[in-house]
Amino acid sequence: MGTDADVIIIGASPAGISAAIASAEQEIDIILLERKAGIGDPPHPANTFFDGMFDRTSEIIHPEYVMREMAGMEIVSPAGGRIVVETPGYVIDRKKFDEYHARDMIKHNVDIRTGVAAHNIIRKDRHIRVSTSDGTFSSEIVIIADGIVSNLSALAGLHPTKYPHDIAWAIEAEVEADGIGEPDHFEYYIGSFAPGWKATYSPCGGDRANLGIFVRRHGQDVSRFFDLWLARFKKEKNISDLKIIRKHTGGDPIATIPNEIVADRIMVAGGAAGQSGIAYGMRAGEICGTVAAKAIVTSNTSKKELSGYQRLWEKEFKSEYNLGRSALEAMRKMDDKDIDRLVGLFAGADVNRIIGTGTPISKAFRVMRFMLRRRPVSALSCIPSVIKAGI
Ligand SMILES: Cc1cc2nc3c(=O)[nH]c(=O)nc-3n(C[C@H](O)[C@H](O)[C@H](O)COP(=O)(O)OP(=O)(O)OC[C@H]3O[C@@H](n4cnc5c(N)ncnc54)[C@H](O)[C@@H]3O)c2cc1C
Repeated sequence: MGTDADVIIIGASPAGISAAIASAEQEIDIILLERKAGIGDPPHPANTFFDGMFDRTSEIIHPEYVMREMAGMEIVSPAGGRIVVETPGYVIDRKKFDEYHARDMIKHNVDIRTGVAAHNIIRKDRHIRVSTSDGTFSSEIVIIADGIVSNLSALAGLHPTKYPHDIAWAIEAEVEADGIGEPDHFEYYIGSFAPGWKATYSPCGGDRANLGIFVRRHGQDVSRFFDLWLARFKKEKNISDLKIIRKHTGGDPIATIPNEIVADRIMVAGGAAGQSGIAYGMRAGEICGTVAAKAIVTSNTSKKELSGYQRLWEKEFKSEYNLGRSALEAMRKMDDKDIDRLVGLFAGADVNRIIGTGTPISKAFRVMRFMLRRRPVSALSCIPSVIKAGI
């Protein structure tokens, strides 16, 4: 029996799109299934990133989708202490971003089927079948890139993340108020009002901004945390008249850590595989698509062959993801006073100089060294939480 394509990709996520382009560049036939009626419509709420995040991808940031360039970020402790990091960042129009990449897929002859939801994946003989709302498709390999609530990986018998209970459930609202979009730094608030991760303020220019809350281990409905964050934000910024335009809900797999992301003829990428973040998802998709293309060319779609994707991903990212999880776990276990003390260590310091350049591990090492030199007792008081978190 013939197949409809060499590779079927489920989900036009950043990872799915990048996997499609990377495979198609090797002349592989691709069908991409997306259940939304149009790519990026409605858009995913993820719409910010910083310089350097795309360095490992083939993406060159394009003005077509950049809404606003930012000067940096401020991390704010429960008592209001601030760490200011000057590092260029971007707010993007996520719909335009996705449409820009959809055009790139079309240039690469990817067969995009929108409005088609995949229901199940069945391995049959040497092929794999995907049953969908538009009939059954078959291919040699399926790449699952269907986002955070990846029920298809589970149906295929995979456990793609190590800590699935650690998704940060989120609400992000587009809001409007006088001048709320004008500051040129993102603000990230940490503390017990956003347990396990953060509350965010992303000024989008003029009178528009996004306010978000990301919470781990307190259930999927985080609206009570969002309401508290909104009240706190209005008080802090002295805003009485704030209009909520639209609310998005979702999950960020920031601390879930990739686990079993390949099987015979199946690969998982992006949020579905615990690879959080737009740029990180795109790089994972590129690796995944390249390995899938090689497997098609060599007619070897076994788990052993496809594991090349997992190995390459781990080489580039494993220690970075583990470090990120450990830091988040340490923070989750700190009380507000610990966090204030930690942020206080950086008062008056040139944070950019401390962080320096290099790998995330070398940056983390320099930060730890600074903390120990500056106030050994305070820095050491944070270490029990860090040790508990398993660093
Ligand atoms: C509120 C919020 C804000 C965030 N902000 C940022 C940010 O600013 N920057 C950042 O880097 N990261 C951010 N993140 C992290 C975010 O999770 C990722 O960066 C990324 O955008 C999500 O990619 P994904 O791989 O999870 O897939 P998604 O972008 O969720 O894409 C999955 C796609 O698969 C489709 N799909 C699902 N099931 C099926 C099916 N059965 N059949 C066919 N199609 C299907 C969906 O319609 C969707 O288009 C944010 C997360 C949340 C929840």
